[in-house]
Amino acid sequence: MTRVHEAADIPVFSERLDGLMAAMLKGEAPNVGRFCGYCYTPLGKRAEACAHCSRAVAEYEPAPKLPPEFFDLYKRMRKRESLIVNSFAFAGLGIGLLLFIVLVAIAVYRYDQSLWMLGGAVAVLIVGGRVLAGLLGGWIGDSIGYEFAHKRLVEEWAVFEREREQRLGRAPVADAVPGAR
Ligand SMILES: [Zn+2]
Repeated sequence: MTRVHEAADIPVFSERLDGLMAAMLKGEAPNVGRFCGYCYTPLGKRAEACAHCSRAVAEYEPAPKLPPEFFDLYKRMRKRESLIVNSFAFAGLGIGLLLFIVLVAIAVYRYDQSLWMLGGAVAVLIVGGRVLAGLLGGWIGDSIGYEFAHKRLVEEWAVFEREREQRLGRAPVADAVPGAR
C-alpha cells in the first residue's frame, strides 16, 4: 500500500514491516526472520544496521520474531483505521437512503406519484448510496482514519518502547519514534 499522508513523516512501522505484518496476519508469511532489535524492520542476513532507524545490530540485538505485544500495536492500528473508514462508508449509505426518502416524498406529494421521479429516486438509492459510501469512506474516512490511528499508534509505541527498554535494561532513548533520528 503506497499512500502519502502528512503524518507518515515518522512511521513507526517501516514500509517493509507494514507489508510483512499484513502478510503475516493473512497467514501468507511466517513470523520468523531477522528483525531490527529496535523497530523490528526486517534486516538482511548480514546487515549491520537497520535501514529504517539506522540503529546498529551490535547495540540492538536482532530479534528472530516479532513479539506479540508489538504485533498487537499493529492490529489495533488497523482496527481503528478500518472502524473509521467503515463508519464513514455507512454514513454515505445513510445519506443515500435519506436522499431516496426525500425524493420519494417529493415524487408522491409534489409530482403526483411521477414514475420518472420514483425511478430517479431508486437510481439515487442504488448508485448514489455506493458512490457516497465510496467517497466518504475512501476519501474522508481514509485520511481521518489514518491520522487518528497513526497518532494513537505513536502514543502506544512510546509506552511499548519505554517498557521494553526498561525490561532489557537498555538506556532509554530520547526520541521515541523509530523513524525520527
Ligand atoms: Zn530499526
